[in-house]
Amino acid sequence: MPSKNVKKLPLRKEYSAGGVVFKDKREVLLIKNPSNVWTFPKGHIENGETKEQAALREVKEETNIDAEIVTYLGEIHYFFTWKGTRIFKTVYFFLMKYISGKPVPSWEVKDAKFFPIEEAKKLIKYKGDKEIFSKALEKLCLL
Ligand code: ATP
Repeated sequence: MPSKNVKKLPLRKEYSAGGVVFKDKREVLLIKNPSNVWTFPKGHIENGETKEQAALREVKEETNIDAEIVTYLGEIHYFFTWKGTRIFKTVYFFLMKYISGKPVPSWEVKDAKFFPIEEAKKLIKYKGDKEIFSKALEKLCLL
C-alpha cells in the first residue's frame, strides 16, 4: 500500500518489553526475528504484568536464558501494518546480566545466540535497536 494511504488505516497502540542481555561484559544476546533481522528478545506485556516481569519472561521464553535486570535503558517506537491495522509500537528495554542457560530459540524466533559486542554492532539493523544498544554499552560499567 502506498505510504500516503497507510495513514488512513485504523491505528492501534501496542506495548512490549525486552532485554539487552550481556554475558561477561563481552557478549550480547540477539534473536533472529521472523523477518530475518537480528534484534533483542522482547514481547507483549500481558495484563497484570510489570514491564520488568514481561521483559524477563520474554527473554526466557524466546531464548531459554535466565537473566536479571540491572537498570532501565529506555523505550523505542516504530510503526508497522498488520491485517489492515497500523500499529504504533512502544518497546521498553532493560539492561540485563546473564545468569544461566544456553540459548535455545523458541518457535517464535528463527535463532538465538550470544555474539561478541563488535559483531553484534554490525548485525543490529533497526534504528531503535542501534540507539538502545549504544545506551547499553554506555552502562556496561554497571554490570
Ligand atoms: P512482540 O515480539 O513484541 O510480541 P510481534 O512479534 O508481534 O511483537 P514485532 O516484532 O514488533 O511483532 O514485528 C512487527 C513488525 O515490526 C515486523 O515487520 C518487524 O520486522 C518490525 N520490527 C520489529 N522490531 C522492530 C524494530 N526494533 N524497529 C523497527 N521495526 C521492527
